[in-house]
Amino acid sequence: MKPVAFDYASATDAPTAFMALKDHAGSARLMAGGQSLGPMLNLRLARPALIVDVSRTAALRGVTQTADAIIYGASITHAEVEDGIVPDATPGWMADVARHIAYRAIRNRGTLGGSLAHADPAADWVNVLTALDACVELKGPTGSRTLLLEHFFMGPFTTALALDEMIEAIVVPRRDATASWGYEKFCRKVGDFSQASAAVLIDPARGQTRVLLGAIEAAPILLNNAEALISGHASVVDAVSKALPERSVEANALHVQAVVRAIAKALAAGART
Ligand SMILES: Cc1cc2nc3c(=O)[nH]c(=O)nc-3n(C[C@H](O)[C@H](O)[C@H](O)COP(=O)(O)OP(=O)(O)OC[C@H]3O[C@@H](n4cnc5c(N)ncnc54)[C@H](O)[C@@H]3O)c2cc1C
Repeated sequence: MKPVAFDYASATDAPTAFMALKDHAGSARLMAGGQSLGPMLNLRLARPALIVDVSRTAALRGVTQTADAIIYGASITHAEVEDGIVPDATPGWMADVARHIAYRAIRNRGTLGGSLAHADPAADWVNVLTALDACVELKGPTGSRTLLLEHFFMGPFTTALALDEMIEAIVVPRRDATASWGYEKFCRKVGDFSQASAAVLIDPARGQTRVLLGAIEAAPILLNNAEALISGHASVVDAVSKALPERSVEANALHVQAVVRAIAKALAAGART
């Protein structure tokens, strides 16, 4: 199938993109890498009257470093994270995640902001950046706001973005070498979206311990009792059942295994430091 006819505009600066969204409220759609929007257009699941290309918008391509965080422009690509063209807020974890997203042609074009806005529950950045306690800076005609990703995702393919808002940047807290991390995803074959995933962050310097359940039919879930799960004092099977009460224990098996493996990876990484 082919897309319905649409107009195309390339926004070299952010005000041009805002203006286009405002003037075509509800009928304009931003396009970053086009890796999800392209198929949606072809399937006619998206029928915008206007596509606003933000892949070259200067304000969305920058990276700012502060003492506490790295702020990535929304149109930074997976490949730029993978290749170290932009600094990594973590001790290499983000680059490793990027390296295992789909395949290189997708990573060359797919962007952080596009992935978060699309909010596929199986997408790597959706889960990894939530586990890393990142937030998004959103910009709309009436101003800016910042939302933690755990509040940004409302459900599968659903976010808190208003029709005339865009993601300007993603703020990722820095993690140092005393922190440890484990990420596990199960895919049918290399390059596929995951069927189940989990991420574990142990950061004594920031006093944060997080265990995240991903690739579910919902927004990512941060499990309660993260410390007890990691120390083995709480049952992962029970925690996953509590988080996904509508599913049977058997249906949760892959997610349980993802959490168990992510914990093991984080503990092994911690033991090496
Ligand atoms: C075959 C295939 C396999 C894939 N496998 C994986 C995988 O294993 N793991 C994974 O994580 N991802 C995977 N992806 C997704 C890919 O990595 C991209 O991240 C994803 O397609 C979205 O990024 P994009 O830049 O292409 O966004 P686009 O397709 O351009 O846009 C996606 C959505 O985001 C909106 N948008 C874009 N930029 C902004 C912005 N700045 N502000 C607000 N809204 C915006 C668009 O309007 C659109 O609704 C796969 C994609 C394909 C085609």
